[in-house]
Amino acid sequence: MTGSISVINGGSSSIKFSLYREAENNRLNHVFRGQVDGIGVAPKFVAKSANGDLLDEKTWHNTPEYNHETLMTHIINWIREHRQALNLDLLGVGHRVVHGGVDFSSPVKVNETVLDKLEALIPLAPLHQPHNIAPIRTVAKLYPTLSQVACFDTAFHTTNPRHAKLFALPRDLIREGVYRYGFHGLSYEYIARQMETVDPEAAKGRVVVAHLGSGASMCGLLAGKSMVNSMGFTAIEGLVMGTRTGSLDPGVILYLIQNKQMDAAALEEMLYKRSGLLGVSEISNDMRILLESDDEKAREAVDVFIYRIQRELGATVAVLGGLDALVFTAGIGENSAEIRSMTCKGMEWLGIRLDEEANRAGGPRISTDDSAVSIWVIPTDEELMIAMHTKNLLDNC
Ligand code: ADP
Repeated sequence: MTGSISVINGGSSSIKFSLYREAENNRLNHVFRGQVDGIGVAPKFVAKSANGDLLDEKTWHNTPEYNHETLMTHIINWIREHRQALNLDLLGVGHRVVHGGVDFSSPVKVNETVLDKLEALIPLAPLHQPHNIAPIRTVAKLYPTLSQVACFDTAFHTTNPRHAKLFALPRDLIREGVYRYGFHGLSYEYIARQMETVDPEAAKGRVVVAHLGSGASMCGLLAGKSMVNSMGFTAIEGLVMGTRTGSLDPGVILYLIQNKQMDAAALEEMLYKRSGLLGVSEISNDMRILLESDDEKAREAVDVFIYRIQRELGATVAVLGGLDALVFTAGIGENSAEIRSMTCKGMEWLGIRLDEEANRAGGPRISTDDSAVSIWVIPTDEELMIAMHTKNLLDNC
């Protein structure tokens, strides 16, 4: 039997899963991936092979019965059935966990003590952490002896210097862990490794990665290590996102509390779900729809999105002391030539020169030959990164 690793990425309304099989030279090959989305409304299960062929799909209408736990059980049973048919042995399950707090600066094998510590971090990521932990508990209940590994979005940023992590807050708050952790770390780690083959010279130097998806952030890498990133204590800070504000003057929060009688729940809902591209455009959080729209508000939302990326890019390059390569990744970064072009326009002073034709073709290299800074489109793969971490940890314990 060949070994395999399953990866689970649990969210509030969806659970994504995938399976990788061991291959020669310590590689992992993708076998299938799928997801259940619409949890709480009309859950829909879809599974596809590595080359995108549909393997299975199912929709449930009786929603109260199909909660996170029953749907996770369906996923895990589906994986077992299909894995066995392919003669694959399951070595372990890797999970994406958004917050590792101060305790976890690298992936960890899960046990009851670890789970308790992860649960204690729920107040730091209330919308994500509970849904990352729930599938771990379900799997532990179904298969108590199966190895599970938690991989953290925060871990990659532990190399940020201390002054980059601190808010200028009273020390008591810093002591209890109120500081900038940073997120999207699994994506940045994957890109940092890809850069070693894509552009080995730049990988040894100063690289800025723009992860532009429905969640968006930017990271500055020095010799492959995270030095600065735009997300902080929570995944709200930094760039404008699909429905999240990005950086916001804290005075706005005070104003809303004092004059609009908004409480914590109302603020959370507004900051995470009703702001960003959706809030400004009043049309959609989907960049494709905004780019196609003739509406002035859609154009303005895109303008704010680009302005904040450019501002963050300038700040990140200042921290790194220069720039050798710029990388675009995630849903918008990988797929929108228009957004990449708008981002680079006016930033030529950094030494970047976009090759519009290569950009329209989708790269991977989208800078001109005479550009002092290379520009790349590199698809991210957080799930493969989790599978690699899981295999590595289980091989060495
Ligand atoms: P998530 O943060 O949910 O993982 P993704 O990285 O999958 O997000 O990015 C999803 C977003 O990517 C969508 O909301 C959509 O706005 C954007 N997107 C996908 N394809 C395109 C495209 N061709 N042009 C512009 N935006 C796109």
